[in-house]
Amino acid sequence: MRGLNTRGVGGHAPLEEQQQNLMALQDSSQTEDYIKALHENTLSFYQKWVNSRLDKSKLEEELTPQINCRVCWESDEHETFLTLCRCKGTSAHIHRSCLEKWLAKSDTSHCEICGYSYNIIRTPRYNVRESIPIWLKHGAHRDLLFDAISFFAFAPLVVVSTYLGVVVSLHHFDLGDSVEVDMPRSHMVTAGVLGLMLTLDYSFMLWLFTRVRHHRSRWYLWWRRHSVVKVVVPLQTSYGEMVEDGNKEGCTLK
Ligand SMILES: [Zn+2]
Ligand SMILES: [Zn+2]
Repeated sequence: MRGLNTRGVGGHAPLEEQQQNLMALQDSSQTEDYIKALHENTLSFYQKWVNSRLDKSKLEEELTPQINCRVCWESDEHETFLTLCRCKGTSAHIHRSCLEKWLAKSDTSHCEICGYSYNIIRTPRYNVRESIPIWLKHGAHRDLLFDAISFFAFAPLVVVSTYLGVVVSLHHFDLGDSVEVDMPRSHMVTAGVLGLMLTLDYSFMLWLFTRVRHHRSRWYLWWRRHSVVKVVVPLQTSYGEMVEDGNKEGCTLK
């Protein structure tokens, strides 16, 4: 026992003393029985130390595996948990309502982790006509306002330039082969005005087309994300983890 502090072994010695004992043991030449006894006493000490600091019921609760929803991390047992996809472990369980909200918001029908394709029914919350005012009020971006201002600023210019181009062209053709007019010069002016008019019209229409398409796709995404999604739960998954709970609205875990 030389060189070893055995006072606290088996009792409530501080952790530092246990550490010192183990350090001293490294340099000692103790017998196998002594080392075994020291090992058992050390284990006993740690067990008492842990028990004195943890409430038993709390410890049991911590050791019991808990099922949590992978979206909200709640373990609310009053709501149905689904395990339809191929995810395992902590990602396996998800509340039905959380899954349906997530599928609606993300505008997808797949599991984002394993790629499993859910069987869903997506119903738009608003029809097209009633969705547009709501989108303009709540979902539209600021660049829509900028584009609207640009449209009302440039559209009159395009109309006026088109009108002038047409008038100049008609006037040019009315002149015919009049000898009083410098025809080559008149041809050049008319061609220049027409070219300018067509370039302006084409640019404006191209800009209008791309901006309308851009805002339409944004509205469409918003419209889909405000759908109501219902997950169709199969009678039993291929993994045998689900059984029907009888009300057709959901399945419960075995
Ligand atoms: Zn949840
Ligand atoms: Zn998955």
